[in-house]
Amino acid sequence: MFNTVSRRVVAGNKQTTFQAGMIVRQFSQKLNQQQNGVASLSVEKFQEEMQKAGIQRGYVVYDAEKQQVVTSHPLFAQLGEFISKDKRDFLKHEACFFQVGPKSNLLFSAFLHKSNRGLAHGGVRLWKYNSMEDYVRDGLRLSLGMTRKNALAGLWWGGGKGIIQKTDGATYANDVTRDVIFGEYGKFLSSLKGAYYGAEDVGLTTPDCDRMHNSSRFVSCLSQGIGGSGNPSHSTAIGTVCGMEAAVNFLGMGDLSGKKVVVQGAGNVASFIVEELVKRNVGKVIATDIDKNLIAMRKEQFKHAPNVEFRVVAPNDLSIFAEPCDVFAPAALGGIINSTTIPMLNCKIVCGAANNQLLDPVEHDHMIKNRGIIYVPDYLNNRMGIVNCANECFGYVKNDPAILKHFGRDWDNAVYVIASRILQTSRDQNIPTGLAANKLADEFSEMENPIIGHRGWSIVKSLIEDKWENGQL
Ligand code: NAD
Repeated sequence: MFNTVSRRVVAGNKQTTFQAGMIVRQFSQKLNQQQNGVASLSVEKFQEEMQKAGIQRGYVVYDAEKQQVVTSHPLFAQLGEFISKDKRDFLKHEACFFQVGPKSNLLFSAFLHKSNRGLAHGGVRLWKYNSMEDYVRDGLRLSLGMTRKNALAGLWWGGGKGIIQKTDGATYANDVTRDVIFGEYGKFLSSLKGAYYGAEDVGLTTPDCDRMHNSSRFVSCLSQGIGGSGNPSHSTAIGTVCGMEAAVNFLGMGDLSGKKVVVQGAGNVASFIVEELVKRNVGKVIATDIDKNLIAMRKEQFKHAPNVEFRVVAPNDLSIFAEPCDVFAPAALGGIINSTTIPMLNCKIVCGAANNQLLDPVEHDHMIKNRGIIYVPDYLNNRMGIVNCANECFGYVKNDPAILKHFGRDWDNAVYVIASRILQTSRDQNIPTGLAANKLADEFSEMENPIIGHRGWSIVKSLIEDKWENGQL
Protein backbone atom coordinates (compact mmCIF):
# COMPACT_ATOMS: atom_id res chain seq x y z
CA MET A 1 0.00 0.00 0.00
CA PHE A 2 2.76 2.46 0.95
CA ASN A 3 4.64 1.66 -2.22
CA THR A 4 1.57 2.53 -4.27
CA VAL A 5 1.21 5.86 -2.46
CA SER A 6 4.90 6.69 -2.89
CA ARG A 7 4.91 5.85 -6.58
CA ARG A 8 1.90 8.04 -7.30
CA VAL A 9 3.49 10.89 -5.34
CA VAL A 10 6.84 10.59 -7.12
CA ALA A 11 5.00 11.37 -10.34
CA GLY A 12 4.26 14.87 -8.95
CA ASN A 13 6.73 17.72 -8.29
CA LYS A 14 9.69 17.32 -5.91
CA GLN A 15 8.12 19.37 -3.09
CA THR A 16 5.00 17.20 -3.07
CA THR A 17 7.15 14.07 -3.18
CA PHE A 18 9.10 15.20 -0.11
CA GLN A 19 6.03 16.21 1.91
CA ALA A 20 4.08 13.11 0.98
CA GLY A 21 7.14 10.98 1.78
CA MET A 22 7.23 12.52 5.26
CA ILE A 23 3.51 11.93 5.77
CA VAL A 24 3.82 8.31 4.66
CA ARG A 25 6.77 7.81 6.98
CA GLN A 26 5.00 9.44 9.94
CA PHE A 27 1.87 7.41 9.23
CA SER A 28 3.96 4.26 9.01
CA GLN A 29 5.75 5.09 12.31
CA LYS A 30 2.43 5.81 14.02
CA LEU A 31 0.94 2.58 12.71
CA ASN A 32 4.01 0.72 13.91
CA GLN A 33 3.69 2.34 17.35
CA GLN A 34 -0.01 1.44 17.51
CA GLN A 35 0.72 -2.14 16.48
CA ASN A 36 3.75 -2.65 18.70
CA GLY A 37 2.78 -0.49 21.69
CA VAL A 38 5.56 -0.20 24.25
CA ALA A 39 7.83 -2.38 22.11
CA SER A 40 8.29 0.58 19.76
CA LEU A 41 9.75 2.70 22.62
CA SER A 42 13.47 3.16 22.98
CA VAL A 43 14.93 1.00 25.75
CA GLU A 44 15.69 4.16 27.76
CA LYS A 45 12.10 5.42 27.34
CA PHE A 46 10.78 2.04 28.46
CA GLN A 47 12.97 2.35 31.57
CA GLU A 48 11.45 5.80 32.18
CA GLU A 49 7.99 4.24 31.97
CA MET A 50 9.09 1.62 34.51
CA GLN A 51 10.34 4.36 36.80
CA LYS A 52 7.07 6.35 36.44
CA ALA A 53 5.16 3.21 37.40
CA GLY A 54 7.50 2.66 40.37
CA ILE A 55 8.77 -0.62 38.92
CA GLN A 56 12.34 -1.98 39.05
CA ARG A 57 11.51 -5.45 37.80
CA GLY A 58 8.98 -7.16 35.60
CA TYR A 59 8.34 -10.31 33.64
CA VAL A 60 6.54 -11.86 30.71
CA VAL A 61 6.01 -15.59 31.26
CA TYR A 62 4.30 -18.14 29.01
CA ASP A 63 2.28 -20.62 31.05
CA ALA A 64 2.20 -23.67 28.76
CA GLU A 65 -0.34 -25.48 30.96
CA LYS A 66 -2.85 -22.64 30.67
CA GLN A 67 -1.57 -21.65 27.22
CA GLN A 68 -1.47 -18.00 28.18
CA VAL A 69 0.99 -15.21 28.78
CA VAL A 70 1.28 -14.06 32.40
CA THR A 71 2.81 -10.66 33.19
CA SER A 72 3.83 -8.75 36.31
CA HIS A 73 2.42 -5.24 35.69
CA PRO A 74 0.25 -3.42 33.14
CA LEU A 75 3.42 -2.10 31.42
CA PHE A 76 4.71 -5.65 31.03
CA ALA A 77 1.23 -6.77 29.94
CA GLN A 78 1.67 -4.44 26.95
CA LEU A 79 5.09 -5.92 26.23
CA GLY A 80 3.58 -9.40 26.70
CA GLU A 81 0.90 -8.60 24.15
CA PHE A 82 3.54 -7.65 21.59
CA ILE A 83 5.59 -10.78 22.34
CA SER A 84 2.69 -13.23 22.32
CA LYS A 85 1.33 -11.90 19.01
CA ASP A 86 4.71 -12.24 17.33
CA LYS A 87 4.90 -15.09 14.87
CA ARG A 88 8.57 -14.75 13.94
CA ASP A 89 10.69 -14.84 17.10
CA PHE A 90 8.34 -15.89 19.90
CA LEU A 91 8.18 -19.68 20.10
CA LYS A 92 6.37 -20.03 23.42
CA HIS A 93 9.51 -19.03 25.30
CA GLU A 94 9.09 -19.92 28.95
CA ALA A 95 9.99 -16.55 30.42
CA CYS A 96 11.55 -13.11 29.96
CA PHE A 97 12.68 -11.36 33.16
CA PHE A 98 13.69 -7.68 33.26
CA GLN A 99 15.40 -5.58 35.91
CA VAL A 100 16.88 -2.07 36.02
CA GLY A 101 20.28 -2.12 37.76
CA PRO A 102 19.89 0.25 40.74
CA LYS A 103 23.37 1.81 40.40
CA SER A 104 24.23 1.08 36.75
CA ASN A 105 20.73 2.15 35.60
CA LEU A 106 21.03 -0.34 32.70
CA LEU A 107 18.21 -2.64 31.63
CA PHE A 108 19.10 -6.26 32.42
CA SER A 109 17.17 -9.24 31.13
CA ALA A 110 17.14 -13.01 31.05
CA PHE A 111 15.35 -14.85 28.22
CA LEU A 112 14.50 -18.49 28.93
CA HIS A 113 13.45 -20.44 25.88
CA LYS A 114 13.06 -24.04 26.90
CA SER A 115 14.13 -25.96 29.99
CA ASN A 116 12.95 -29.55 29.54
CA ARG A 117 16.51 -30.68 28.62
CA GLY A 118 17.80 -28.79 31.65
CA LEU A 119 18.07 -25.29 33.09
CA ALA A 120 18.48 -22.46 30.60
CA HIS A 121 22.15 -21.71 29.88
CA GLY A 122 23.71 -19.19 27.51
CA GLY A 123 25.88 -16.09 27.33
CA VAL A 124 25.16 -12.57 28.55
CA ARG A 125 25.43 -9.90 25.86
CA LEU A 126 26.32 -6.26 26.49
CA TRP A 127 24.91 -4.41 23.48
CA LYS A 128 23.13 -1.22 22.43
CA TYR A 129 19.59 -1.69 21.08
CA ASN A 130 17.54 1.11 19.56
CA SER A 131 14.11 -0.08 20.62
CA MET A 132 12.47 -2.53 23.00
CA GLU A 133 11.37 -4.47 19.93
CA ASP A 134 15.00 -4.96 18.82
CA TYR A 135 16.05 -5.81 22.37
CA VAL A 136 13.29 -8.37 22.91
CA ARG A 137 13.58 -9.93 19.45
CA ASP A 138 17.31 -10.47 19.89
CA GLY A 139 16.76 -12.03 23.33
CA LEU A 140 14.09 -14.39 21.97
CA ARG A 141 16.15 -15.34 18.90
CA LEU A 142 19.41 -15.83 20.79
CA SER A 143 17.84 -17.94 23.55
CA LEU A 144 16.21 -20.18 20.91
CA GLY A 145 19.65 -20.44 19.28
CA MET A 146 21.10 -21.58 22.61
CA THR A 147 18.42 -24.27 22.99
CA ARG A 148 19.44 -25.59 19.57
CA LYS A 149 23.18 -25.28 20.14
CA ASN A 150 23.01 -27.02 23.54
CA ALA A 151 20.73 -29.78 22.24
CA LEU A 152 22.90 -30.62 19.20
CA ALA A 153 25.95 -30.64 21.47
CA GLY A 154 24.23 -33.25 23.63
CA LEU A 155 24.36 -30.96 26.67
CA TRP A 156 21.68 -31.44 29.30
CA TRP A 157 20.98 -27.74 29.36
CA GLY A 158 18.10 -25.67 28.08
CA GLY A 159 18.48 -22.45 26.11
CA GLY A 160 18.78 -19.00 27.63
CA LYS A 161 20.37 -15.64 26.96
CA GLY A 162 21.02 -12.53 29.00
CA ILE A 163 21.13 -8.97 27.73
CA ILE A 164 22.47 -5.80 29.28
CA GLN A 165 21.52 -2.64 27.39
CA LYS A 166 24.64 -0.63 26.64
CA THR A 167 24.57 3.15 26.77
CA ASP A 168 25.32 4.81 23.43
CA GLY A 169 29.07 5.21 22.91
CA ALA A 170 30.00 3.81 26.33
CA THR A 171 33.09 1.59 26.49
CA TYR A 172 32.96 0.70 30.20
CA ALA A 173 36.75 0.56 30.17
CA ASN A 174 36.95 1.31 33.88
CA ASP A 175 37.21 -1.71 36.21
CA VAL A 176 35.06 -0.04 38.88
CA THR A 177 32.24 0.51 36.37
CA ARG A 178 32.46 -3.12 35.29
CA ASP A 179 32.42 -4.25 38.94
CA VAL A 180 29.14 -2.36 39.38
CA ILE A 181 27.48 -3.58 36.16
CA PHE A 182 28.42 -7.23 36.43
CA GLY A 183 28.09 -7.30 40.21
CA GLU A 184 24.49 -6.14 39.78
CA TYR A 185 23.85 -8.57 36.95
CA GLY A 186 25.18 -11.37 39.19
CA LYS A 187 22.64 -10.39 41.85
CA PHE A 188 19.95 -10.42 39.19
CA LEU A 189 21.00 -13.99 38.28
CA SER A 190 20.85 -14.99 41.94
CA SER A 191 17.34 -13.56 42.22
CA LEU A 192 16.28 -15.99 39.45
CA LYS A 193 17.39 -18.90 41.64
CA GLY A 194 19.08 -20.88 38.88
CA ALA A 195 16.34 -20.70 36.25
CA TYR A 196 19.03 -19.19 34.00
CA TYR A 197 22.82 -19.65 34.04
CA GLY A 198 24.82 -16.81 32.48
CA ALA A 199 28.11 -17.10 30.60
CA GLU A 200 30.38 -14.99 28.37
CA ASP A 201 29.11 -13.44 25.14
CA VAL A 202 29.65 -10.31 23.02
CA GLY A 203 30.85 -7.37 25.14
CA LEU A 204 31.99 -9.54 28.08
CA THR A 205 35.35 -10.93 29.07
CA THR A 206 36.26 -13.80 31.37
CA PRO A 207 36.91 -11.35 34.26
CA ASP A 208 33.34 -10.05 33.79
CA CYS A 209 32.06 -13.59 34.40
CA ASP A 210 34.20 -13.65 37.56
CA ARG A 211 32.56 -10.34 38.56
CA MET A 212 29.09 -11.88 38.12
CA HIS A 213 30.26 -14.91 40.06
CA ASN A 214 31.09 -12.66 43.04
CA SER A 215 27.35 -12.35 43.59
CA SER A 216 25.99 -15.49 41.92
CA ARG A 217 26.77 -19.18 41.59
CA PHE A 218 24.66 -19.35 38.41
CA VAL A 219 27.53 -18.30 36.11
CA SER A 220 30.05 -20.22 34.01
CA CYS A 221 33.09 -19.35 31.82
CA LEU A 222 35.11 -18.34 34.87
CA SER A 223 38.86 -17.79 35.00
CA GLN A 224 41.03 -20.82 35.58
CA GLY A 225 42.50 -19.02 38.59
CA ILE A 226 39.19 -19.42 40.41
CA GLY A 227 38.52 -22.94 39.16
CA GLY A 228 36.84 -22.13 35.85
CA SER A 229 37.51 -23.33 32.32
CA GLY A 230 39.05 -20.05 31.04
CA ASN A 231 39.27 -19.02 27.41
CA PRO A 232 37.46 -21.57 25.17
CA SER A 233 38.94 -20.31 21.87
CA HIS A 234 41.21 -23.29 21.23
CA SER A 235 38.39 -25.79 21.79
CA THR A 236 36.13 -23.71 19.54
CA ALA A 237 38.77 -23.83 16.81
CA ILE A 238 39.15 -27.63 17.06
CA GLY A 239 35.36 -28.03 16.87
CA THR A 240 35.31 -25.86 13.75
CA VAL A 241 38.05 -27.90 12.11
CA CYS A 242 36.07 -31.10 12.89
CA GLY A 243 33.15 -29.52 10.97
CA MET A 244 35.48 -28.83 8.01
CA GLU A 245 36.76 -32.41 8.08
CA ALA A 246 33.21 -33.76 7.99
CA ALA A 247 32.32 -31.57 4.99
CA VAL A 248 35.51 -32.40 3.07
CA ASN A 249 34.91 -36.11 3.65
CA PHE A 250 31.22 -35.73 2.70
CA LEU A 251 32.23 -34.30 -0.67
CA GLY A 252 34.54 -37.27 -1.24
CA MET A 253 37.63 -35.06 -0.99
CA GLY A 254 39.38 -37.16 1.68
CA ASP A 255 40.84 -35.06 4.48
CA LEU A 256 42.19 -31.53 4.90
CA SER A 257 45.76 -32.30 3.83
CA GLY A 258 46.72 -30.33 0.75
CA LYS A 259 43.51 -28.25 0.82
CA LYS A 260 43.32 -24.48 0.60
CA VAL A 261 41.47 -22.74 3.45
CA VAL A 262 40.65 -19.04 3.74
CA VAL A 263 39.95 -17.72 7.24
CA GLN A 264 38.23 -14.37 7.75
CA GLY A 265 39.70 -12.95 10.96
CA ALA A 266 42.98 -13.54 12.78
CA GLY A 267 41.67 -13.15 16.34
CA ASN A 268 41.52 -15.67 19.17
CA VAL A 269 39.61 -18.49 17.46
CA ALA A 270 41.05 -17.83 14.00
CA SER A 271 44.65 -18.16 15.19
CA PHE A 272 43.88 -21.56 16.72
CA ILE A 273 42.05 -22.61 13.52
CA VAL A 274 45.23 -21.76 11.58
CA GLU A 275 47.31 -23.73 14.11
CA GLU A 276 45.05 -26.78 13.79
CA LEU A 277 45.07 -26.57 9.98
CA VAL A 278 48.86 -26.44 9.91
CA LYS A 279 48.91 -29.60 12.08
CA ARG A 280 46.70 -31.26 9.46
CA ASN A 281 49.12 -30.43 6.62
CA VAL A 282 46.83 -28.16 4.65
CA GLY A 283 48.25 -26.95 1.35
CA LYS A 284 47.62 -23.25 1.95
CA VAL A 285 45.95 -20.99 4.55
CA ILE A 286 45.12 -17.33 4.02
CA ALA A 287 43.86 -15.40 7.04
CA THR A 288 42.75 -11.76 6.94
CA ASP A 289 42.14 -9.16 9.62
CA ILE A 290 41.44 -5.44 9.77
CA ASP A 291 43.89 -5.05 12.66
CA LYS A 292 47.39 -4.51 11.23
CA ASN A 293 49.14 -4.95 14.59
CA LEU A 294 47.43 -8.27 15.09
CA ILE A 295 48.45 -9.38 11.60
CA ALA A 296 52.07 -8.43 12.37
CA MET A 297 51.85 -10.51 15.56
CA ARG A 298 50.39 -13.51 13.71
CA LYS A 299 53.07 -13.33 11.00
CA GLU A 300 55.68 -13.62 13.76
CA GLN A 301 53.73 -16.42 15.47
CA PHE A 302 53.47 -18.48 12.26
CA LYS A 303 56.83 -17.66 10.69
CA HIS A 304 57.68 -21.38 10.88
CA ALA A 305 54.76 -22.19 8.52
CA PRO A 306 55.56 -21.06 4.95
CA ASN A 307 52.14 -22.08 3.61
CA VAL A 308 50.32 -19.63 5.91
CA GLU A 309 49.67 -16.12 4.63
CA PHE A 310 48.22 -13.23 6.65
CA ARG A 311 46.67 -10.21 4.97
CA VAL A 312 45.53 -6.87 6.36
CA VAL A 313 42.20 -5.83 4.84
CA ALA A 314 39.99 -2.75 5.03
CA PRO A 315 36.68 -3.35 6.88
CA ASN A 316 34.67 -2.93 3.65
CA ASP A 317 37.04 -4.98 1.49
CA LEU A 318 35.08 -8.02 0.26
CA SER A 319 37.80 -9.43 -2.03
CA ILE A 320 38.49 -12.35 0.32
CA PHE A 321 35.06 -13.83 -0.47
CA ALA A 322 36.16 -14.29 -4.09
CA GLU A 323 39.45 -16.00 -3.21
CA PRO A 324 39.46 -19.48 -4.79
CA CYS A 325 39.69 -22.11 -2.04
CA ASP A 326 38.26 -25.40 -0.78
CA VAL A 327 36.99 -24.04 2.54
CA PHE A 328 35.98 -20.50 3.45
CA ALA A 329 36.01 -20.10 7.26
CA PRO A 330 34.28 -17.03 8.73
CA ALA A 331 35.90 -16.35 12.12
CA ALA A 332 35.29 -12.64 12.59
CA LEU A 333 31.81 -11.18 12.23
CA GLY A 334 28.21 -12.35 11.83
CA GLY A 335 25.93 -11.60 8.86
CA ILE A 336 28.74 -11.86 6.31
CA ILE A 337 27.08 -14.61 4.24
CA ASN A 338 24.45 -12.60 2.40
CA SER A 339 23.03 -11.64 -0.99
CA THR A 340 26.18 -9.66 -1.86
CA THR A 341 28.78 -12.21 -0.78
CA ILE A 342 27.12 -15.52 -1.73
CA PRO A 343 27.47 -14.85 -5.49
CA MET A 344 31.14 -13.95 -4.91
CA LEU A 345 32.10 -17.15 -3.07
CA ASN A 346 34.65 -19.30 -4.87
CA CYS A 347 34.77 -22.24 -2.45
CA LYS A 348 33.19 -25.67 -2.02
CA ILE A 349 32.52 -25.38 1.71
CA VAL A 350 31.70 -22.60 4.17
CA CYS A 351 32.57 -23.68 7.69
CA GLY A 352 33.66 -21.26 10.38
CA ALA A 353 33.29 -20.23 14.00
CA ALA A 354 31.64 -16.81 13.70
CA ASN A 355 28.16 -16.56 15.20
CA ASN A 356 25.12 -15.94 12.97
CA GLN A 357 27.01 -16.09 9.68
CA LEU A 358 23.87 -16.08 7.52
CA LEU A 359 22.46 -12.57 7.45
CA ASP A 360 19.00 -14.04 6.86
CA PRO A 361 18.89 -17.55 8.33
CA VAL A 362 16.22 -18.71 5.86
CA GLU A 363 16.83 -16.82 2.62
CA HIS A 364 20.62 -17.17 2.65
CA ASP A 365 20.46 -20.80 3.76
CA HIS A 366 18.56 -21.49 0.51
CA MET A 367 20.73 -19.17 -1.54
CA ILE A 368 24.01 -20.81 -0.56
CA LYS A 369 22.51 -24.26 -1.22
CA ASN A 370 21.40 -23.10 -4.67
CA ARG A 371 25.00 -22.10 -5.41
CA GLY A 372 26.00 -25.71 -4.71
CA ILE A 373 28.15 -24.71 -1.74
CA ILE A 374 28.08 -26.78 1.46
CA TYR A 375 27.38 -24.60 4.49
CA VAL A 376 28.19 -26.26 7.83
CA PRO A 377 25.90 -24.47 10.33
CA ASP A 378 27.83 -22.10 12.59
CA TYR A 379 26.20 -23.12 15.86
CA LEU A 380 27.31 -26.69 15.28
CA ASN A 381 30.96 -25.68 14.73
CA ASN A 382 31.29 -23.13 17.49
CA ARG A 383 29.51 -25.13 20.22
CA MET A 384 32.75 -25.57 22.18
CA GLY A 385 32.46 -22.04 23.58
CA ILE A 386 29.53 -23.15 25.71
CA VAL A 387 30.51 -26.83 25.93
CA ASN A 388 33.86 -25.88 27.44
CA CYS A 389 32.24 -24.06 30.32
CA ALA A 390 28.77 -25.61 30.58
CA ASN A 391 29.75 -28.22 33.12
CA GLU A 392 32.46 -26.40 34.99
CA CYS A 393 30.25 -26.42 38.09
CA PHE A 394 31.32 -30.09 38.35
CA GLY A 395 34.98 -29.10 38.30
CA TYR A 396 37.42 -28.52 35.49
CA VAL A 397 40.17 -30.94 34.45
CA LYS A 398 42.64 -30.85 31.60
CA ASN A 399 41.98 -33.31 28.75
CA ASP A 400 38.50 -33.85 30.12
CA PRO A 401 36.92 -36.84 28.30
CA ALA A 402 33.59 -34.97 28.44
CA ILE A 403 35.19 -32.30 26.23
CA LEU A 404 37.35 -34.52 24.03
CA LYS A 405 34.43 -36.72 22.94
CA HIS A 406 33.11 -33.73 20.92
CA PHE A 407 36.21 -33.99 18.68
CA GLY A 408 35.98 -37.74 18.09
CA ARG A 409 34.26 -39.87 15.47
CA ASP A 410 32.44 -42.32 17.75
CA TRP A 411 30.02 -40.35 19.91
CA ASP A 412 26.62 -39.67 18.29
CA ASN A 413 26.78 -35.96 19.21
CA ALA A 414 30.42 -35.32 18.19
CA VAL A 415 30.79 -32.33 15.83
CA TYR A 416 32.04 -34.55 12.98
CA VAL A 417 29.25 -37.11 13.41
CA ILE A 418 26.43 -34.53 13.67
CA ALA A 419 27.84 -32.49 10.77
CA SER A 420 27.99 -35.61 8.57
CA ARG A 421 24.41 -36.49 9.56
CA ILE A 422 23.12 -33.00 8.76
CA LEU A 423 24.87 -32.89 5.38
CA GLN A 424 23.43 -36.29 4.51
CA THR A 425 19.89 -35.20 5.56
CA SER A 426 20.26 -32.04 3.51
CA ARG A 427 21.20 -34.10 0.45
CA ASP A 428 18.55 -36.83 0.99
CA GLN A 429 15.70 -34.39 1.61
CA ASN A 430 16.99 -31.69 -0.76
CA ILE A 431 16.80 -29.05 1.97
CA PRO A 432 19.37 -26.44 3.04
CA THR A 433 21.83 -27.47 5.72
CA GLY A 434 20.73 -24.77 8.19
CA LEU A 435 17.18 -26.07 8.03
CA ALA A 436 18.38 -29.67 8.43
CA ALA A 437 20.37 -28.63 11.52
CA ASN A 438 17.41 -26.77 13.05
CA LYS A 439 15.11 -29.77 12.52
CA LEU A 440 17.53 -32.12 14.24
CA ALA A 441 18.22 -29.65 17.06
CA ASP A 442 14.49 -29.11 17.63
CA GLU A 443 13.99 -32.89 17.81
CA PHE A 444 16.80 -33.20 20.39
CA SER A 445 15.51 -30.21 22.35
CA GLU A 446 12.20 -32.00 22.95
CA MET A 447 13.98 -34.70 25.00
CA GLU A 448 13.16 -34.43 28.67
CA ASN A 449 16.00 -34.37 31.18
CA PRO A 450 15.21 -37.52 33.21
CA ILE A 451 16.20 -35.89 36.50
CA ILE A 452 15.60 -32.14 36.31
CA GLY A 453 13.34 -31.76 33.26
CA HIS A 454 10.70 -30.08 35.40
CA ARG A 455 13.02 -27.89 37.43
CA GLY A 456 13.31 -24.78 35.21
CA TRP A 457 9.56 -24.31 34.98
CA SER A 458 9.13 -25.06 38.72
CA ILE A 459 11.58 -22.28 39.55
CA VAL A 460 9.77 -19.84 37.25
CA LYS A 461 6.44 -20.74 38.86
CA SER A 462 7.89 -20.25 42.35
CA LEU A 463 9.29 -16.84 41.36
CA ILE A 464 5.83 -15.75 40.27
CA GLU A 465 4.15 -17.15 43.38
CA ASP A 466 6.74 -15.45 45.60
CA LYS A 467 6.19 -12.12 43.84
CA TRP A 468 9.71 -11.87 42.45
CA GLU A 469 8.73 -8.54 40.87
CA ASN A 470 8.55 -6.87 44.29
CA GLY A 471 12.09 -7.88 45.27
CA GLN A 472 15.16 -5.66 45.03
CA LEU A 473 18.81 -6.17 44.22
P1 NAD B 1 38.17 -11.93 18.33
O1 NAD B 1 37.65 -10.57 18.67
O2 NAD B 1 39.40 -12.41 19.03
O3 NAD B 1 38.48 -12.02 16.76
C1 NAD B 1 37.70 -11.42 15.79
C2 NAD B 1 38.66 -10.77 14.79
O4 NAD B 1 37.93 -10.39 13.63
C3 NAD B 1 39.30 -9.50 15.34
O5 NAD B 1 40.72 -9.65 15.31
C4 NAD B 1 38.85 -8.42 14.37
O6 NAD B 1 39.83 -7.42 14.12
C5 NAD B 1 38.56 -9.25 13.12
N1 NAD B 1 37.71 -8.60 12.13
C6 NAD B 1 36.68 -7.75 12.31
N2 NAD B 1 36.17 -7.38 11.13
C7 NAD B 1 36.88 -8.04 10.18
C8 NAD B 1 36.82 -8.08 8.76
N3 NAD B 1 35.92 -7.38 8.07
N4 NAD B 1 37.70 -8.86 8.11
C9 NAD B 1 38.63 -9.58 8.79
N5 NAD B 1 38.73 -9.56 10.12
C10 NAD B 1 37.86 -8.81 10.81
O7 NAD B 1 36.94 -12.92 18.53
P2 NAD B 1 36.96 -14.50 18.65
O8 NAD B 1 36.79 -14.87 20.08
O9 NAD B 1 38.10 -15.04 17.89
O10 NAD B 1 35.59 -14.88 17.94
C11 NAD B 1 35.47 -14.89 16.53
C12 NAD B 1 34.05 -15.25 16.15
O11 NAD B 1 33.71 -16.54 16.67
C13 NAD B 1 32.99 -14.30 16.71
O12 NAD B 1 31.93 -14.21 15.78
C14 NAD B 1 32.52 -15.01 17.96
O13 NAD B 1 31.20 -14.60 18.32
C15 NAD B 1 32.56 -16.46 17.50
N6 NAD B 1 32.66 -17.42 18.60
C16 NAD B 1 33.77 -17.43 19.39
C17 NAD B 1 33.87 -18.36 20.42
C18 NAD B 1 35.09 -18.43 21.28
O14 NAD B 1 35.34 -19.48 21.88
N7 NAD B 1 35.87 -17.35 21.37
C19 NAD B 1 32.83 -19.29 20.64
C20 NAD B 1 31.70 -19.27 19.82
C21 NAD B 1 31.64 -18.32 18.79
